[in-house]
Amino acid sequence: MTKIIDGKAISAQIKNELKEEVAKSGLKATLAVIQVGKDPASSVYVGNKKKACEYIGVGSASYELPEETKQEELLKLIDDLNADDSINGILVQLPLPDYIDEKTVINRISPSKDVDGFHPESVGNLCIGQEGFVSCTPAGIIELIKRSGISIEGKECVVIGRSNIVGKPMALLLLANNGTVTVCHSRTKDLKEICKRADILVVAIGRPRMITAEYVKEGATVIDVGIHRTDDGKLCGDVDFDNVKDIAGAITPVPGGVGPMTIAMLMVNLIKAAKLVK
Ligand code: NDP
Repeated sequence: MTKIIDGKAISAQIKNELKEEVAKSGLKATLAVIQVGKDPASSVYVGNKKKACEYIGVGSASYELPEETKQEELLKLIDDLNADDSINGILVQLPLPDYIDEKTVINRISPSKDVDGFHPESVGNLCIGQEGFVSCTPAGIIELIKRSGISIEGKECVVIGRSNIVGKPMALLLLANNGTVTVCHSRTKDLKEICKRADILVVAIGRPRMITAEYVKEGATVIDVGIHRTDDGKLCGDVDFDNVKDIAGAITPVPGGVGPMTIAMLMVNLIKAAKLVK
């Protein structure tokens, strides 16, 4: 029987653990959330992040800046929040308008408040195995795998995708957990053959239902990071779930798999940031 990995339940479990910890310890924390412009999808994500803060019992401060905000104004706000002791984490909702340089903005956030784990110092810490903030989606995937009772040690792990926010940190985390890791991308030859070797296959390509049963070894764990809206208004992933589910040993659905974990891990990072100043 294929195990369907329930990201909703696991993320709820993590948020409840944090809620209990905050209530017991009396720890205070505040997340600053900056949004530039009014992109509807970004507004939904920002709203969900604020709700999660409220749920676990910590504060959030919203900065909704107009679309025409200049890069210098955004950087000044980040400087102010970096210097503000009442703020523990700073999150700039991506994507930013084209005329603002994402890298410059991310690099301006104090590494001690980098709850998204995107700052070069955070990425460097992950790379050399030092404590630090880890990008939320890949960190959430590790939790999904571990809390489903699946061991990573010694396993053949294949990651499809090499983005800075998913693919690369995912590969580093699997390696840190003693997996044997291969990273694939758009120039990879024999993608199917490589994927078929995987005990754990993490798919972060951004192409709806591209991964079919032909890419999957019998009994493999398949983690689907992709999220797409189909023509009939439903959500689907990068994996063709119906086609793969009978061959996989365990698989994440879309929705309800990786998606809910990202915000839970943001809360984990926020609590970690608050403890740094305790
Ligand atoms: P990117 O577009 O930044 O990266 C996609 C990666 O897939 C690239 O490395 C690219 O290779 C590779 N790729 C593209 N086409 C192919 C192909 N045909 N064969 C092999 N590799 C290919 O995407 P992200 O990493 O940001 O996101 C991936 C997916 O995950 C998206 O659907 C996104 O919406 C979703 N996502 C979901 C999150 C969640 O919380 N659930 C969070 C973040 C992302 P190359 O580098 O060579 O171009």
